[in-house]
Amino acid sequence: MDQVSMTAAAAACAIIMMITSMLLYNVSRNERYLFDWMIAAILFSIYGVIAICSAYLETHRLIFPAAPNALYMAGFTAIYSGVSQLTLKRSHWKLVASVLVISYLVQLIPAVIQSVNLRLLIFYPFLIFINSLSFYTLWKHRKQEDRNSFILLMIVLFLFTLQLIIRGVVIAFGEKLEIFGSEFIQTSGTLALVCLFFMLTISFAFVSFWKKEAHLRALAITDHLTGWLNRTVLNSISQNMKSECLRNDSCLGFMLIDIDNFKSINDKYGHSVGDTVIKEVCDRAKSNVRACDYAFRLGGEEFLILIKNADNNLMENLSNRILRKISCTEIDTVSDSLKVTVSIGYSLCSKADKSWECVLERADLALYHSKESGKNTSTDFNMIQIA
Ligand code: GH3
Ligand code: MG
Ligand code: MG
Repeated sequence: MDQVSMTAAAAACAIIMMITSMLLYNVSRNERYLFDWMIAAILFSIYGVIAICSAYLETHRLIFPAAPNALYMAGFTAIYSGVSQLTLKRSHWKLVASVLVISYLVQLIPAVIQSVNLRLLIFYPFLIFINSLSFYTLWKHRKQEDRNSFILLMIVLFLFTLQLIIRGVVIAFGEKLEIFGSEFIQTSGTLALVCLFFMLTISFAFVSFWKKEAHLRALAITDHLTGWLNRTVLNSISQNMKSECLRNDSCLGFMLIDIDNFKSINDKYGHSVGDTVIKEVCDRAKSNVRACDYAFRLGGEEFLILIKNADNNLMENLSNRILRKISCTEIDTVSDSLKVTVSIGYSLCSKADKSWECVLERADLALYHSKESGKNTSTDFNMIQIA
């Protein structure tokens, strides 16, 4: 394919990328990285259109190649901005604008606009740098829960940067060594661009769909009032945590929490005040729980916390802290400030336990014991047996 046709193909791919990213952003406006990528696609599309027009029309040197070069640089910077927004929640609009303006202004220098080599010398290292930075940013955050959505984008950026480096070496030494002609270098560069725009379109869609799916998955397992997990994942998480703790020769703590006299709060103040109380109790309890522990709303005003690497001491201290944190200050609601207490029952899951369900039953018996003992207290299941 000749160079003009290749450029037309690159422009078409850029326009497809622009339309796709606009549609993606339109359906997920809260995903701000999609906005950055939409801008990148717009910059690349204008780049493509000017490049193709200049093949047929007589244009001034300050329009072609100065303008498309600047748009090209800014396009890759906008990709980086989107990557940064995706991983660090931080866009870099000033950087994109600066790259656009500076890349253009640099080309006003007569020596630069007259020499292809000089332009390559200035722009190539920046292109390699900004794409490597995008790749590195994704690599550094690959441990995030939605890391799988990054993989395709990482591969695309890696391959494009690699070909930039190879082409850079070929441009620097290839012609001297008479390995490749300049036509091959140009056509292969545009072909790489066609592939890049095509693959970026797929990568953007992949990231967006993955995140949407992850969001829906999270919604399905989360209780919307408290933000705690619901029963759907209780079985799988309990099994996994149990196996992990037993592998480490430690115990898994099951702590049941139930709000005292909650029915009377509902009856006296109404359901929405009851909801506020549930939310506040959960927030206070959660502030005492470590990040590695899991908190569930089992239903109504009953909650379960799974505590990793637990022992009797830890469970006792934690339950007392939760009791104090909830009972020591009143909860402000729209109608009144209420004094609320909870009762707690806990039990440890060890090697001897065949299933986690029997440990939960023991914690439930301990909780019942706390209720029978006058509420606002915690009970270790082992202590009931001793008594
Ligand atoms: P105890 O001290 O023995 O635990 O008594 P209690 O009144 O707290 O317990 P009981 O099980 O008798 O009442 C629980 C009430 O919680 C009954 C139900 O209407 C209410 N409830 C369940 N789910 C929700 C909810 O999502 N929001 C509100 N506001 N109330 C709820
Ligand atoms: Mg209750
Ligand atoms: Mg209850």
